[in-house]
Amino acid sequence: MDSRMVESYACGRWHRATDEGRAVISPVDGAEVARVSSAGLDVAAMAAYARETGGPALAALTFHERAAALKALGLTLMAGKAEFYAESARTGATERDSAVDIDGGFGNLLSYASKAKRELPNDVIHLDGPVEVLGKKGTFLARHVHTSRRGVAVQINAYNFPVWGFLEKLAPAFIAGVPTIVKPATQTAYLTELVFRRIIESGLLPEGSVQLLCGDPAPLLDALGGQDSVAFTGSAHTAATLRARPALVERSVHFTAEADSLNASVLGADVTTDDPEFELYVKQLTTEMTVKAGQKCTAIRRALVPEPMVEAVIEAARARLDRVVVGAPGAEGVTMGPVVSLSQRTDVLAAVDKLRGAAELVVGDPDHIAVVGGDATTGAYLPPMLLRSTDPEAPEVHEIEAFGPVATIIGYRDTAHAVELIARGGGSLVASLVTADPQLAREVLLGIAPFHGRLLVLNAEDARESTGHGSPLPVLVHGGPGRAGGGEELGGIRGVLHHMQRTAIQGTPEVLAAATGQWVAGAPRTEGDEHPFRKSLAELRLGDTIVGGPRTVTLADIGHFAEFTGDTFYAHTDPEAAAANPLFGGIVAHGYLVVSLAAGLFVDPAPGPVLANFGVDSLRFLTPVRADDALTVTLTAKQITPRSGADYGEVRWDAVVTNQDGAPVATYDVLTLVAKTLDGGES
Ligand code: NDP
Repeated sequence: MDSRMVESYACGRWHRATDEGRAVISPVDGAEVARVSSAGLDVAAMAAYARETGGPALAALTFHERAAALKALGLTLMAGKAEFYAESARTGATERDSAVDIDGGFGNLLSYASKAKRELPNDVIHLDGPVEVLGKKGTFLARHVHTSRRGVAVQINAYNFPVWGFLEKLAPAFIAGVPTIVKPATQTAYLTELVFRRIIESGLLPEGSVQLLCGDPAPLLDALGGQDSVAFTGSAHTAATLRARPALVERSVHFTAEADSLNASVLGADVTTDDPEFELYVKQLTTEMTVKAGQKCTAIRRALVPEPMVEAVIEAARARLDRVVVGAPGAEGVTMGPVVSLSQRTDVLAAVDKLRGAAELVVGDPDHIAVVGGDATTGAYLPPMLLRSTDPEAPEVHEIEAFGPVATIIGYRDTAHAVELIARGGGSLVASLVTADPQLAREVLLGIAPFHGRLLVLNAEDARESTGHGSPLPVLVHGGPGRAGGGEELGGIRGVLHHMQRTAIQGTPEVLAAATGQWVAGAPRTEGDEHPFRKSLAELRLGDTIVGGPRTVTLADIGHFAEFTGDTFYAHTDPEAAAANPLFGGIVAHGYLVVSLAAGLFVDPAPGPVLANFGVDSLRFLTPVRADDALTVTLTAKQITPRSGADYGEVRWDAVVTNQDGAPVATYDVLTLVAKTLDGGES
């Protein structure tokens, strides 16, 4: 395959650099694969285009509409993935490595699409937390809301995940309604560019919502402002340089980094060589060393093992690592490819040399390496290398990240010692603990959680379903404090909210309801002649209310409910015992009886647009109900959410049950599905 010029996609068209660019050499065979340059690219115009074209286009879509676009894109890319695998092999990735990058990346789009549809409203605003009542008379309330920032999300990515790396950042920004500029690492930019071409060709994303910058991102960073963000993945050194860039500091540009990480995996002190957890530990360690040739930000670098188990772990790991076949991706039997470049190989070897100041190499010899289907001199091949620390406290093993197929076994004395050693990593993305002892797990988890973004506890029970130490998941937080960069990505909707501004809105109930699209207590109610259950989604309005009751509760009602349901708890059935109850002082009605009676008071029984009741939220029983109390229920349309792609939507009703004194007895939200139109079709 010939070398090709990688292009950028800027301001709605493909841009070819005006110079020769930087050559990218394949780590497989030393051949030139591509050239990369951003010469002649107006990067400030890219930022403006994102803000002026991409931003408004995204703002016109609701969370659900953005989710639908992402889902369609994920499915389209997945259907055409074969060509991406072929290109990925040139980066040194085996088929297993490519699956992590390519399928993992597309999976991110689908996961975010599904989360957004289920957990966000079909709207452009996200509510954060409950209403805060600020005045005694209820006329002055506040609520926190999230709205999309009006800027651009710039992402600067590492070379190791040319597909997953940009899609894991793109998906949450897109759902948040913020356009993205992707800057891939030069070494693997050709694969990112290929996927990007298919994205643009699909026409599924709004114009301006995604752009690609292959080359130098520095001038772009100087064009950013307070509504923009930068999400960086790469070395701690580059992260530190970018973070301190005056243009970013002066304008408070949101900056997050995900950098080097000395991730640890601990073998619990409870595990013996006969336990299934022993094999699980060793298998996970060797897998993490060899997937992507160890070039994973989440790979295990420090293997913490009880001192008496060190030899056994080394021998079991050796047996597995001896079976690893290093060579060109796709060649017969190859299970581990090269690292990404010759210079990366040099860096890894230099790091191993430094580690050898405090550890000895016990598996793998970089000077004698068998390579299948490739040449050890022109390709960037390395063997898996396992070291054993000679001094567990030595800084080298906790601070030097050899970003390749390298890990160090560190013996620990007891659990407190293991916890203390893990913290010496200065903050990591992930740690795992292999143990069958839940109390030991708690001790370790509480000790190390402040230093990590994600923790995995592995044992024989969850091993078959476990996604593994090294797999960041779209629904879980990815990132870590301190040395790991101090950032946080993914984490389901948490990742979306990173791109949105949280604002506290203060005002009257009516203003809050209008601004947030959710009725709040104190806002106007409309009690018309027509029962709200007779109204379709198109006709129903926030604040539409039905008041039912009063209904007097009798002792016979309570006795009947107890007998009928079998809930004969003494407070409802035994006058003497109930009298002794310090909260009730006598027989009280079941809370579920109150809720059932309330339904009887507000329901309109005839067939109509209300299709189903799918639950209640936030149910609280506030005042005991006694025989002869009279109940009234007030049901108010609180939130109306049409479902895209269905002929119905969700209506959340505010329900308040009061007694004859006006005291609230129960409060809750009733959740129903309601047809969009009276004839059942789309409105
Ligand atoms: P770098 O930090 O050098 O590069 C990461 C990204 O930043 C690339 O896109 C790079 O672009 C860009 N970049 C580099 N310098 C600048 C700059 N001055 N201004 C703006 N952008 C810049 O990391 P590498 O990818 O080269 O990897 C080096 C080491 O980082 C690895 O050996 C490993 O230790 C660590 N690493 C950690 C990862 C993690 O997720 N924790 C992932 C990958 C690497 P370009 O490629 O064009 O230079």
